[in-house]
Amino acid sequence: MSEMQRYLPVFHDVRGARILVIGAGAVGARKIEALLAGGARVTVVAKEFSTAVEEHAVRGDLTALRGTFHPDQMREAELVFVATPDRTLNRRVSAEARRRRVPVNVADSPEECTFLLPAVVRGDEFTAAISTNGKNPGAAKALREFFEEHRAEISVRLERGRRRRMGAGPGKVYIVGAGPGDPDLLTVRALGLLRSADAVIYDYLVPAEILSLAPMKAARICFARRGGTAGHGSILKQNAIHKAMVRLAREGKTVVRLKSGDPLVFGRGGEEAEHLSREGVPFEIVPGITAAMGCAAAAVLPLTHREKSSSVTLIAGHETDDKGKSAVDWSLLPKDGTLAIYMGVARVAAIAEELAGAGFSLDTPFAIVENGSRPEQRVLRGDLADLPRIAAESGVRSPAILFVGRTAGLEVQGALGPALTAGNASEEEPPRSKKSSSM
Ligand code: SAH
Repeated sequence: MSEMQRYLPVFHDVRGARILVIGAGAVGARKIEALLAGGARVTVVAKEFSTAVEEHAVRGDLTALRGTFHPDQMREAELVFVATPDRTLNRRVSAEARRRRVPVNVADSPEECTFLLPAVVRGDEFTAAISTNGKNPGAAKALREFFEEHRAEISVRLERGRRRRMGAGPGKVYIVGAGPGDPDLLTVRALGLLRSADAVIYDYLVPAEILSLAPMKAARICFARRGGTAGHGSILKQNAIHKAMVRLAREGKTVVRLKSGDPLVFGRGGEEAEHLSREGVPFEIVPGITAAMGCAAAAVLPLTHREKSSSVTLIAGHETDDKGKSAVDWSLLPKDGTLAIYMGVARVAAIAEELAGAGFSLDTPFAIVENGSRPEQRVLRGDLADLPRIAAESGVRSPAILFVGRTAGLEVQGALGPALTAGNASEEEPPRSKKSSSM
């Protein structure tokens, strides 16, 4: 028999159960809260009560006996918890409980216990209990933290389990935003889904670092190639994506359709949702940080500003008609706001001309953020008059976003984001924040 097998993990129903707690300090109070939440009938014996316990007593949630322990108090108890600083007393209560065959737990003294309290993680639909037989509370805490961090993933697995129980119906497609590139900018939900995916269908803009968060065994399918995203080929590709999502979901799989940024911003998430809806495949949309937000934060560029911008407009810069003329009516765009132009770098000279033609003053500031939030991030600034030259000289390439407006001229010094520090040529260590140095 291993030491671990000595303890049988059980979940004890405490609703309506009579439970005796000796000690009402911080540790006792925590146990009392948990017991009351479970509907137990609690009697507390202590010389002094913490305010919280006192309040419960006043409300009649529990019976509070001020004074010392007496064996008679144990007469009807189903479980006994001991949490006083007096080790001799703790030992005496434990011995009395064992004599009466009442299960007893003494805080921080596994040898005085007939049952142990595990570290607990509760989700909406699950309780995980972790024990190291009381020998390694640090490890139990670390495991609990691990569970807590993976809560979103656990809820996906629970949902999958429920679907399985209801019969091998369709799986589900999650249309998930992956943010601008830095894995830290994934939402907790996106991370959880990714970690429990059976299949991931992604675009070329999603970096390998993010894909590596999916399980090794998950199928990874990339349809788009850099540059091959326009015209007839793009329609064929989109159809292939639609087919793959439906096929995998019908096999009962959890499919993560991973898109850079937000799926509903220039990401065809809407078309994919429409298709899934037509095919009767369950789906859910999980938002992500769109490039405009991610890149604005990286460049410390306030998208709105009380004096400089009262609107943000997200624009597709690459769309042109048959004659190569922009599909955007630039004259309709607000001149007192911030323009965030996606997919525009290849046409940057034409865009500058179109903006000028639409009445944007040549001294309107711009900022281009290339590879925002990624280690290779670059930020270029200037005025509209110089935009074609600066873009050409710096050889700016996709993915890059072009901001135009007075907010783009604000240069706020002092920000030190992960991408900015990683991209620095200097070998110097960035100053550490208090938070990270305490780790
Ligand atoms: N759904 C995405 C946009 C996809 S369109 C989102 O919400 O962000 C692709 C365009 O997004 C690129 O051409 C570029 O303009 C922009 N983009 C995406 N990631 C970027 C990044 N890390 N840095 C700069 N621009 C980015």
